[in-house]
Amino acid sequence: MTTMPNWLKQRAFLTPERTAISDGERTKTFTELYEAAASWARRLAGAGIKEGDIVALLMKNSIEMIEIVHALFFLGARALLQNVRLTPYELGWQLDDSGARFVIADDGFADRFGGDERVITVSALAGLAEADVPLKETYHLDETATIMYTSGTTGTPKGVLQTYGNHWWSAVGSVLNLGLHERDCWLAAVPLFHISGLSIAMRSVIYGMPMQLQTSFDAKAANALIMDGKVTVMSVVAAMLQRMVVELGGERYPDTFRCMLLGGGPAPKPLLEVCKEKGIPVYQTYGMTETASQIVTLAPEYSLTKLGSAGKPLFPAELRIVRDGKPAAPYEAGEIVVKGPNVTKGYLHRPEATEQAIRDGWFYTGDIGYVDEEGFLYVLDRRSDLIISGGENVYPAEIEAVLLAHPDVEEAGVTGMEDETWGQVPYAFVKLKQGAAADEDELKQFCRGRLAKYKVPARIYFVHALPRNAAQKLLRRELKTLIPEAEKRASQL
Ligand code: ATP
Ligand code: MG
Repeated sequence: MTTMPNWLKQRAFLTPERTAISDGERTKTFTELYEAAASWARRLAGAGIKEGDIVALLMKNSIEMIEIVHALFFLGARALLQNVRLTPYELGWQLDDSGARFVIADDGFADRFGGDERVITVSALAGLAEADVPLKETYHLDETATIMYTSGTTGTPKGVLQTYGNHWWSAVGSVLNLGLHERDCWLAAVPLFHISGLSIAMRSVIYGMPMQLQTSFDAKAANALIMDGKVTVMSVVAAMLQRMVVELGGERYPDTFRCMLLGGGPAPKPLLEVCKEKGIPVYQTYGMTETASQIVTLAPEYSLTKLGSAGKPLFPAELRIVRDGKPAAPYEAGEIVVKGPNVTKGYLHRPEATEQAIRDGWFYTGDIGYVDEEGFLYVLDRRSDLIISGGENVYPAEIEAVLLAHPDVEEAGVTGMEDETWGQVPYAFVKLKQGAAADEDELKQFCRGRLAKYKVPARIYFVHALPRNAAQKLLRRELKTLIPEAEKRASQL
């Protein structure tokens, strides 16, 4: 099957009165959401937006943002979702790289584009007259629905093409694993401009499931929604979960809460252990912009026995570990390679990068991991961050996880530094918790008890903040630049 009826229209036809979305103040049914989206679509058409146009969106999480994404689908335009934390330079770079014809921006963000004529604010759009245009009755699964630039953690961001089919199969793969309960309501506190957030909005319309939206993450409010039984599933990254756990104190979530979907980066073991103690149903997941969110997730019955694993591929996706061009044996580390209908068809305007990433229908993720004898995936690190010391592979994430287990450490980053004897050695950069006093010797001692000698950082620097990108991911390749400042501080102590 290559076409499907317009999702939101069909959903409004099937379950018109069901709640589609709530932001705590406003609630809309699927009919209301559909009518609002149709009205936006006619205004967007009035602004000159046509089928095939790339339209950038720079918006904070809001009901309107979801309506406008659907409205662009109704016109056959492609939504380029931009991260609101990007600098004007980065935003402009994405507009140039993509060839976007228009930008829809929250009123407060219009000034980020330096007077670019393509920008239409949300309130200006609301004031436009509705044009009389036909709205798409069907979606083609091979067509591009959305474009998202990767976080740029390992290099220059690339525009990932996400088709209707990618979103559809991502939603289907997720529900085949997690199931769908009548009382389900998914909390979106992650940004909608990331695939983790947008995929919740896609599931909502495909499943007919209500979603709850937070404009920005609020740990206390999220806990309250869970405690009240209003939210049954939530997507988080480790830092969010950490804050919710602290906020929760000695309390426990009710049984109505059935899934804390944890992804986006490595999951620190101590956090997983605390969640286990508190009975929080954490599902670790592995995915990326290119796989339209989850591609590997730990099924419920294994969340305790396979602690630290990201699980098995979601039906019908497949997973392989490739080492030196050949399939790796269980426990042997290699590149994580995936295949499935949720995987991107490629990068926008980047035929070479696409050819390099997708070979024989398999997508090479650039991440390193291994599978155990039962096929459970363990993600080790990014290939580009791998440190080779005296011929041994050293994974920064493993050292960071050990440092993070020290009670004084708030954040940790590890990178490889040139070394005459070993080729490379790991250096660590640590931000201590407020008032904490651990010194370099103490942390090295702590590492020695938990890591092989060649993995113990040769130096540990103390810094105020670690370099992170707009997605809040650690930029390991920039850690080196912190050395002069850290040395200056150390010499002043
Ligand atoms: P870029 O591709 O531009 O460097 P990025 O890879 O950080 O940016 P995203 O698509 O947002 O952009 O992130 C996906 C990446 O996040 C994965 O490829 C992987 O490196 C990391 N990741 C996701 N889930 C996990 C996980 N469960 N464990 C470890 N790492 C993970
Ligand atoms: Mg990536």
